[in-house]
Amino acid sequence: MIFLDAAATTPVRREVLDAMWPYLTGEFGNPSSHHSLGETAAAALSGARAAVAGVLGCRSGEVTFTSGGTEADNLAVKGIALARQAADPVLNRVVISAVEHPAVEESARYLERFHGFAVDVVPVDGTGLVSPEALEAVLRPETALVSVMYANNEVGTVQPIARLAALAHSCGIPFHTDAVQAAGWLSVDVKALGVDALSISGHKLGAPKGCGVLYVRGRTRIEPLVHGGGQERGRRSGTENVAGAVGLATALTMAQAQQLQAAERVAALRDAFIASVLAGVPEAVLTGHSTERLPSVASFCFPGTSGESVLLELERRGVVCSSGSACAAGSDAPSPVLTALGIEAEVAQTAVRFSFDSSVTALDLETAAQGIRDAVASVRSLGLA
Ligand code: PLP
Repeated sequence: MIFLDAAATTPVRREVLDAMWPYLTGEFGNPSSHHSLGETAAAALSGARAAVAGVLGCRSGEVTFTSGGTEADNLAVKGIALARQAADPVLNRVVISAVEHPAVEESARYLERFHGFAVDVVPVDGTGLVSPEALEAVLRPETALVSVMYANNEVGTVQPIARLAALAHSCGIPFHTDAVQAAGWLSVDVKALGVDALSISGHKLGAPKGCGVLYVRGRTRIEPLVHGGGQERGRRSGTENVAGAVGLATALTMAQAQQLQAAERVAALRDAFIASVLAGVPEAVLTGHSTERLPSVASFCFPGTSGESVLLELERRGVVCSSGSACAAGSDAPSPVLTALGIEAEVAQTAVRFSFDSSVTALDLETAAQGIRDAVASVRSLGLA
């Protein structure tokens, strides 16, 4: 099997599992316990927090462990908007981009349904980019928060986060970015990005599913969503997933250490793959930005087919990928991300995303490109559009 669905999830890396193992077995203490087992767990958690903080270039106290990217996004969007509204009821609008993951989009919609917020959606251009001008046009004195993702999970477009965050700040508005897809490939130095909050998910990086991080800048007020024992400095109650935190810290540190080298190599393989797919299927359309994109994502529309049928034909040929984001897979509705890029609903239904981790090889991608040519031809000849 050639696994080209790394944007959906990745296998746990051996080094990550080794780092986690003690905290799943002998050192199984609860970090809140006042005995040596508990203290060992607390030390591991604090080591993991320091390692994450080292990668992000922030203080340990600014790192909150969560149950994943979805929870980190929910906490950022709802938590910051609600805290700001509580301090000043005039602040009752949130800005999101038109290509956000549902974890951000639905959090904003929740604020709209239950807390009287208005949601302003910044449009993107045909490549999926948010321009500073487009953002500026929707900022208001009542805007409590701006949330724009770092890299898109369906088409891989990378946003100019530092410029967008600076713009929001010039109006006194905090800025959150969902870096779930970006963290494996791009710098997540929060100072260079200039963001107030940033979300990361472990399972996109070679750590297990169910662990994530939210960075929140020092004095940013944030209302907790999960109440209880006051763990994570009161920002996220619940007994900490010590092994998950250790795994995430290990995976993030490794990804960032290998990042530059891996990104260059994988980007070259991706470009060769794109050229090969377009040569094999001349009507195919690459979606997303031609250069401002993740090294690891190539997403196409194959007009005259259906994405789901191409996916099935590819799986028969040993290539595993996705017909859009994993969350939207199985749904009949065209992807809102592709629609936001101005792609017609009929064409958006033909989208297939290929995404890799750093273990991908030239041979994998050559084989996949051949499989794509054959799968598309087979879908067309069988009339499976
Ligand atoms: N944000 C983006 C951009 C994603 O791609 C994903 C996962 O697909 C998430 C958030 C959600 O992360 P998790 O699966 O850890 O909840």
